[in-house]
Amino acid sequence: MLKFYNSLSHKKEIFKPIDDKKVGLYTCGPTVYFYAHIGNLRTYIFEDILKRVLLYNGYSVNHIMNITDVGHLTSDADIGEDKLEKGAQRENKTVWEIANFYEKVFKQDLKRLNIIFPSKWIRATQTIKDQIKFIQILEKKGFTYIIDDGVYFNTQKLKNYGALWSEKAKKILKSKSKDDIKKFVRVEMVPGKKNPTDFALWKFSSKSVKRQMEWNSPWGKGFPGWHTECVVMSIKELGIPFDIHCGGIDHIPIHHTNEIAQAEAAFGKKLANYWLHGEFLILEKEKRMGKSEGNIIILEDIINKDFSPLSYRYFCFNAHYRSKLVFSWKALEASQRALNNLYQKVREINKKDFSNKTDMDNSVYLGSRSQNYKKTFKKFINDDLDMPKAMSLMWDVVKDDNLKNNEKYYLLIDFDKIFGLGLDKIKEIAIPQEVRNLVALREKYRKNKEFKKADSLRDKIKSLGWEIEDTQDGPKIIKSK
Ligand code: AMP
Ligand code: ZN
Repeated sequence: MLKFYNSLSHKKEIFKPIDDKKVGLYTCGPTVYFYAHIGNLRTYIFEDILKRVLLYNGYSVNHIMNITDVGHLTSDADIGEDKLEKGAQRENKTVWEIANFYEKVFKQDLKRLNIIFPSKWIRATQTIKDQIKFIQILEKKGFTYIIDDGVYFNTQKLKNYGALWSEKAKKILKSKSKDDIKKFVRVEMVPGKKNPTDFALWKFSSKSVKRQMEWNSPWGKGFPGWHTECVVMSIKELGIPFDIHCGGIDHIPIHHTNEIAQAEAAFGKKLANYWLHGEFLILEKEKRMGKSEGNIIILEDIINKDFSPLSYRYFCFNAHYRSKLVFSWKALEASQRALNNLYQKVREINKKDFSNKTDMDNSVYLGSRSQNYKKTFKKFINDDLDMPKAMSLMWDVVKDDNLKNNEKYYLLIDFDKIFGLGLDKIKEIAIPQEVRNLVALREKYRKNKEFKKADSLRDKIKSLGWEIEDTQDGPKIIKSK
């Protein structure tokens, strides 16, 4: 049984897909005007875990991710500049060059983090015609009005606007106090807008500043609104309703609420049955990581400090996806250490224990102890993706002396279908003969109680990139970070 917390009902629900075997999943993709920061990447890692859990449960997943290459303004609502046009000015490049460049970097980031690519990528600029057609449907049904700035959606025309909002928020909306609503949803009033929650479906190009990306439409030259892009692309690829729609928690009050409102208005249907949202990665002292706040860390920064991208992936499993996660370099260091330790343990599993290759290919018979581990693991991941519990169980397996090596190996490789830490690719590291000789000599000194000499050899070994851990079974040689 698979359970997810559904932001629509504000509770955990048993997952029942529309089709028994196949799940339609839409995840809001990046706005490609700059590098994704590690907060953004936390959300993509959470979505990757969701997809892996669906696959683990035997579903095939039709996963669509969009690339927002036009229409996302510097405020999530309807004022400010288009982020892409702003990026082009900043870097003195065309908007298309900017979009192309950051899309490539984004895909490279996902690869480095071992995130499985979507079944299909779709760019907002590839679907302009579909978006115009969709706005025409809304127009025919009487949900739109035109002001100087663009074509707007009249949220008051929809009976149950605010599908994802809490009861408290819905009450504020019902009170019809514009000031309270504005404060709550933090939207700005564009002159002529009828209700604070109304939003742009199509924005007109400004008369004073020439845009690089603009298209003709029945209403005038301009570009689509961000919320229209996602609803149109998701329905185009997955139909309506589809199973799961995801994003970061910041998408609840405006972006996803407005996607739902448009789908309801155009087709009288729910857009998606389950809505999952990832909490934010924050910096210490509750500081928000954001491009507009100017305090972002990108994956390249992590790599430049000699951390592996997968140490960041591992770090993300320390918190449940619906809890805030505080980033610090110290915490990342601990994750890197733990990950190296895990790799080392996998390397140490005595391969002599495997009678043949198929044992290592996971078809080994599992004893009841292992079966229990596997069952518990599935229970944790199926309970709204409880990764912290799944991780701690994995360490129980690593440390369990009552498990046979081949069972341990089987379980770790099996769990890694979810973790995605590349455990199946761990190779024995060849220890150079020079290091082996030094370690043997150090042992000799230690036995003779010549500790000064032994210590100086330990330093020499360290300078060659290796560490020694003295165990009951003799010295263990480990590659330094
Ligand atoms: P954007 O490229 O700005 O549209 O954001 C991409 C994704 O990252 C969206 O799903 C956002 O909700 C999410 N996001 C933005 N900031 C953070 C953060 N600090 N922590 C986690 N996710 C975030
Ligand atoms: Zn979206």
